[in-house]
Amino acid sequence: MFKLKTILFLFLAGISILLVSCKLNKENLAEKAAGIHDQVLTVDTHCDTPMRLLRSDYNPGDKHDPRQGGGKVDFQRMKEGGLDAMFFAVFIGQGERTEEGNEKAKNLAFNIFDAIKKAVKDNQDIAQLATSPEDAYKIQDEGKRAIFIGIENGYPIGNDLSLIEKFYEMGARYITLCHTRNNDICDSSTDSEGPEHNGLSDFGISVVKEMNRVGFMVDVSHISDSAFYDVLKISTAPVIASHSCARALCDNPRNLTDDMLRVLADNGGVIQICFVSEYLKTPEPFPERDSARLALREKYKDFQNLSDAEMDSARYEWYAIDRKFPPKLATVADMADHIDHVVELVGINHVGIGTDFDGGGGLKDCFDVSEMENVTLELVKRGYNSKEIEKIWGGNLMRVFRKVRDIAEKES
Ligand SMILES: [Zn+2]
Repeated sequence: MFKLKTILFLFLAGISILLVSCKLNKENLAEKAAGIHDQVLTVDTHCDTPMRLLRSDYNPGDKHDPRQGGGKVDFQRMKEGGLDAMFFAVFIGQGERTEEGNEKAKNLAFNIFDAIKKAVKDNQDIAQLATSPEDAYKIQDEGKRAIFIGIENGYPIGNDLSLIEKFYEMGARYITLCHTRNNDICDSSTDSEGPEHNGLSDFGISVVKEMNRVGFMVDVSHISDSAFYDVLKISTAPVIASHSCARALCDNPRNLTDDMLRVLADNGGVIQICFVSEYLKTPEPFPERDSARLALREKYKDFQNLSDAEMDSARYEWYAIDRKFPPKLATVADMADHIDHVVELVGINHVGIGTDFDGGGGLKDCFDVSEMENVTLELVKRGYNSKEIEKIWGGNLMRVFRKVRDIAEKES
């Protein structure tokens, strides 16, 4: 009897020790992650929030509810989530490739630049415009949010190479060469009509060279595989994929194959893993949602050439489908699998974060920018040390950023 009691006592004591140490371990990890997250420069290379800035009722200085259509990024929630720097995308959907279409795209780009600058200026106590790595670290020290500008789609360049320098002077620091359809620069990875140039066009080659000369980061997200290889052959500076994932883990043309990742690493570049569920994890079939989306696409003619009012109702109906058939979102762990994959393949120096918030990005447990610390927690749990996490969160991107600028300075 005595023996049985002793055994029972020892057993219970053992379990309590285990539970306490588990709890301590969990607290330690969370504390460690919070410390690292607070210390390192955290950079996200892609959000499409500026489209909201064109609407006069959206002030990114106010706090919004992302589950009530409020968007996933504002300055207050950036602070809450410990995100120091964000690239705001000047996104131009691909339209007519005519003189008139190009002109319209250019003017829209100018308007979005203005809207970003006004939003930052109106909220100077919390945010500041940044155009260099040094700016980012300085603004971080001041406890403010650093806002960079990137251009998503080279369409607004039209046929005028001189606009590249103009956009640089206006403060942009990367250009994604195309979007979901082919343009005059290159083929897209997702154009339903297939390739048109078999990679970069002759004009596209001049665009990449001019970007190298001016000091722009060339962004290879969205472009076709052949265009990717063409860019990597031509660019004298490292390139970025501002929001893409690994195709080995999720077979989607928007993602980079292992071979592309090796070539990217050889070039000294970086892939910024994005938070779009369908690029992270092959989606399970969801026929009701798929057919509702397809019907909407048809109703709004593939969202091409819509008036502002039509675009508004298309967007409204798109989100209504989300509410009716909520998407099955990927998790931070799914996203971290892509980071692990890149690290195992080419080492720690070629991977970062580019969420695509407000452009389709958002995870179950990192739904908006206020939850970014969950990323660091997951990396800590997976055994990444603070030095490695610093590289993933911004160090790698800033290395490329500096190198692109150094090469441009040498060329001029
Ligand atoms: Zn995109």
